[in-house]
Amino acid sequence: MITERLGEVRRRIQNATVQAGRSPGEVRLLAVTKTHPIETVRAAIGAGLTVLGENRVQEAITKYQGLEGVELHLIGHLQSNKAKLVPGLFSWVESIDALSTAEALSRRLQAAGRSCSVLLQYNSSHEASKSGYADASELLEDADRIAALPGLALRGIMTIGPFVEDARRIAAAFSATRALYEKLRSQRPNDRVDTLSMGMTDDFEIAIAEGSTEVRIGSALFGARA
Ligand SMILES: *Cc1c(COP(=O)(O)O)cnc(C)c1O
Repeated sequence: MITERLGEVRRRIQNATVQAGRSPGEVRLLAVTKTHPIETVRAAIGAGLTVLGENRVQEAITKYQGLEGVELHLIGHLQSNKAKLVPGLFSWVESIDALSTAEALSRRLQAAGRSCSVLLQYNSSHEASKSGYADASELLEDADRIAALPGLALRGIMTIGPFVEDARRIAAAFSATRALYEKLRSQRPNDRVDTLSMGMTDDFEIAIAEGSTEVRIGSALFGARA
């Protein structure tokens, strides 16, 4: 089942990429296993998925601790007091939304002799219920400080699109995030800023048309969550 779904998702990603006039392979797939049991994680890895995502630190520990050959991304809000659990578990944190969190993470990574790639989360829908930087200029200001922190590699921006039907509104939020990403790239020309993480099951084709380099897919691969 996962193999078929994965094939279908890959086809859709490829089609959307080519349709956007981009090269196939420009968009990578992050498989989101949150709420699904460890058996699903094993099946995903068995199907060849190696880049996986979880939104809760505690849940990730129970499913991923000690698992080899997996690049695990944290895609949910990170509380500073949980930063100590990141080293050795997550190799990417996509949800940095405050300088203080980045500083706490940097300290913990240094202590553990590890490093992490990070994305700054932008609240492109401006919904109060969503985390992320609401203010684009604040994000760009913090970016310089975060990029200087030991143990962290600033790789780009992550966003969650608005949960609405209107495709134009979704596209507008992604387009604004893309513009912010381009600003970040020109502000940090010597860093490897190469990741624009946007697009989920319901909106990844729109995100790819707007320049996403990484889509985070859960339901389309593993079925609906309880
Ligand atoms: C759950 C989640 C996803 C995947 O959502 P689907 O709609 O199931 O593809 C992607 N990104 C984040 C931040 C999530 O929390």
